[in-house]
Formats: sequence, C-alpha cells, structure tokens
Amino acid sequence: MSHRTTPLFPALAEGSTTPALTFGERTLSYGELAASAGSLAARLGQVPGVAVWATPTLETAVGVVAALLAGVPAIPLNPKVGERELAHIVSDSRPPLVLAGRGDELPHALAGLSRIDVEATAATDHQRTWQEPAPDHPALIVYTSGTTGPPKGVVLPRRALVATLDALEDAWQWTSEDVLVHGLPLFHVHGLILGVLGPLRRGGTVRHLGRFSTEGVTKELSTGATMLFGVPTMYHRIAEQLPEDPSLAQALASARLLVSGSAALQARDQERIRTATGRAVIERYGMTETLMNTSVRADGEPRAATVGVPLRGVELRLVDETGGELPDGPDQVGEIQVRGPNLFLEYLNRPDATAEAFTEDGFFRTGDVAVREPDGYVRIVGRKATDLIKSGGYKIGAGEIENVLMDHPDVRDAAVTGAPDPDLGERIVAWIVPEDPERPPTEKELADHVAAQLAPHKRPRVVHHLAELPRNDMGKIMKKALHA
Ligand code: ATP
Ligand code: MG
Repeated sequence: MSHRTTPLFPALAEGSTTPALTFGERTLSYGELAASAGSLAARLGQVPGVAVWATPTLETAVGVVAALLAGVPAIPLNPKVGERELAHIVSDSRPPLVLAGRGDELPHALAGLSRIDVEATAATDHQRTWQEPAPDHPALIVYTSGTTGPPKGVVLPRRALVATLDALEDAWQWTSEDVLVHGLPLFHVHGLILGVLGPLRRGGTVRHLGRFSTEGVTKELSTGATMLFGVPTMYHRIAEQLPEDPSLAQALASARLLVSGSAALQARDQERIRTATGRAVIERYGMTETLMNTSVRADGEPRAATVGVPLRGVELRLVDETGGELPDGPDQVGEIQVRGPNLFLEYLNRPDATAEAFTEDGFFRTGDVAVREPDGYVRIVGRKATDLIKSGGYKIGAGEIENVLMDHPDVRDAAVTGAPDPDLGERIVAWIVPEDPERPPTEKELADHVAAQLAPHKRPRVVHHLAELPRNDMGKIMKKALHA
C-alpha cells in the first residue's frame, strides 16, 4: 500500500530565502537548510536510527531535520548526562550512527557508534524532494526527563508531531510571520519539537540564544521576534530582573506570545510579569509521551495557575482511583487521561510499561493530577506519585502550598512533599530555600502563613532548609532526591 503524506516542512521544499534557523551569528535560510539537511539525509541511508549529540547548536537542528527527511528515527542525546545514563540510552536504542558537530568531543559511551560530522553550510544546490514516510513511522525517540525514575525512550510517530504542531497553530494563531526566541536545550520535546520543528513546520523563524539570558531575550524581542518559549525557571529570572530593567519590560510588552511549560509556572512570577509588562504568560501542558495536551489559547483568557483547555483533537478526562470519570467541579481531583493523534507509539523495549500506561479504551494515563473548572480550564495539582499528599483524610496538592510559601518574603524557593505519619497518613513537609540563609523564616511563621491563605490542614508540619532545590535542566524539581 502506498501512503501519500503531505510534507512535514512545506517551506523546505520551496527553499526560500526566508531565515529558518539562527544560532548566534549564523543563519540558514530555508533554501540553505534544505541543502544542508538534504545532503546529510542522503548520507544517512536506511539505518534503523541515528543518535544526535544535542548541543544547542545549528548542527543539532540540521541533524534532526536531516533524519526526519530521511525517515530515520532520531534519538537526541542530552550532552550533560553522565556516562552511565548515556550508556543506558545507547544500549536501549542501539543507533549505529551518531551525528555531532565538528570538534565536539564525544564521551566514551558513544565510542562504538560511527560518527558523522554535521555541516551547516550556505550552499543551496540540492534536490528538494524527499520521501515522506507513513504517519505511523517513528520520527523521534525522545527520552523522558527522568524526574520520577530512569528516563524512558518514547517512540514518537510522525503523525504525533504533525498533530501537536498543527493544534498549536490553531491555539496560538502561529504563522510563518512568527519569529521565536529560543533559549532551551534541544533534547526534549519543549526545546526540540515545539521550539525548532514548530517554527519550521509553519515556515517561520527560530532565533536560538545558545544559552538563555534576559539580555538575549531583550535583544531579540526588540528586533522583530514575536514569541518566547520558556520553562518556569526562565520566567522566574525574568520576573526578578524586571524591576530594574525597563528595556526587558518593554521588549516583553511588544511580544505577541509568551509561553511557559514543562513545569508549573509560579503564580507569583506570572503576576510580577503581568504587572511590569501588561502581558500575561500563557501556560501549556504536555509530556514526552503525549506531546501537547492543553494550552491557554492566544485569544483566550489567561488565568493564573491553569494550563488552559484541551487542544484540537485531544480528548481529556479526569478519573478517580477506580478509573471512573469525574464530573467537573472544584473539589473533583483526578488523574488526567488523554487520547488523540498526539500520542506516542510505545516505550522502547518496555512492553510492560507501555501496556500499563494505557487504559482499555486507549487513553494514556499521564500520572498528573488536576481539577477542571466549570468552563473547561484545567488546573494541574501535581504528579500523582509525588505531589498529591493524603493527609488527615484530605487530598492536598503540593503545588498550591508551594505557591503560597513562595509568596512569603523570606522564601526564595520552595517544594512540598508528603512523609509517612502515624496519625495523619501523610504529613506535609516543606523544603525551603530562604532568601537569607542567616535568618530563615521559622517553622511556625510558615505554618501560619499557609494556614491563613489556604486552610489549616494545608500547613506544613515540618520545614527543612536547603541552599538550593534539586532541579534538572528543565527546571523541574527532582522530588525523589528530597525523599532520600
Ligand atoms: P519522567 O517521566 O522520566 O519522570 P518527566 O515526566 O518530567 O520525567 P517529561 O515528559 O519531560 O518528563 O515531562 C512531563 C511532565 O512535566 C508532565 O507529566 C507534568 O508533570 C509536567 N508538566 C509539563 N507541563 C506542565 C505545566 N504547564 N504545568 C505543570 N506541570 C507540567
Ligand atoms: Mg513523565
């Protein structure tokens, strides 16, 4: 049977002079990207998979686009993980090839792979017709962030990329005119699929900062960029900087869209940004396995601490512990389950985990817990495994308490966990980074602060002080390290 699918990147086939990718001083137009990625695609041939040493560079973007053009599943590797994790990923996914930048030093774990150096050149002379693989063909194997356990290889079909990127076009009114400011790494869904493949699918432009900085954001948004994608730690840095940086405020005010995702945006940061710029950061919610599930729409009402409504094509339900669907209502806390064309195919080499992840009727169990407001807005409470605390007969979300703790003037950062308690089932434990380590807020002060704003049963019973919270490179709090 022959499949005819439309091209993943229509603008590439046209090969125009519109800038596609800018990394620092270097830019490739669509024509140049078509030539560089096209000739690399021809060299890849029919290998079963190709690893990409995913530094935040033009070469990484070209390498992934080449693999997509060749129909070879790309496996982006986080250059910052240690030998052990890399060895795990390589023995799990077994790519015969690795793409890297000239001069990149590859670790020992990749020594058994043949290496191809990616060249991003300004040549434009290459044929521009590529085979378009079938919709269920694996396009990427992306490893999860490893927040709750060892990273799992998520096999993403081409149709999932198309579904998610086109649903975001609808939700964000995303066009070829948009220029994205990008400061995220390129080995996860957020930075790679949304941040690089998203603009390329629209025929727009990516400007990557190499490394996130508020100066870079100011510069790009002041010179024609229209969108910013970030993780909450970036918006936190922006919020901290705003009072003393009017040019940053002006730049953000001129943006068409400020989007946050990968973890919960702190309500206080959102408020500070809104006050200083008049612009609301909108949140979207997704995961490696499902790509994007919900978002506040560009033409919708941004509401603090919510991730908006299901994207086009996504069916979303909340279920209780017995699997029964919950009605809408403020007290109806349940696990999010989703179904749609945005879903992954399987966890690589993990049929057990794959089977467990799906319900009988094909919904994916996200492990995230949420409530739904009457008009359909989803409010994430946290992860079922670590953020839902069962204390004194109540189900309490850690995120809500974290937000209130961070409102305290003497608290810089906060995480909340549950610990076994003979009376309560679980007791609420707060992990605090004090503004001034010499004068941390007292346990009683924090408990009173929370009880006054939420409810007495939500006050922390134990408070620990830390110099810093354990976060991974997407700014996610590694709560398993706090339990240790
Ligand atoms: P692992 O699955 O290996 O433990 P991980 O779940 O952090 O790691 P990802 O797939 O990168 O790996 O992250 C998806 C998770 O990120 C979601 O399940 C959710 O918990 C969280 N998340 C994403 N966006 C948001 C958001 N806007 N608000 C709150 N949480 C979010
Ligand atoms: Mg996960």
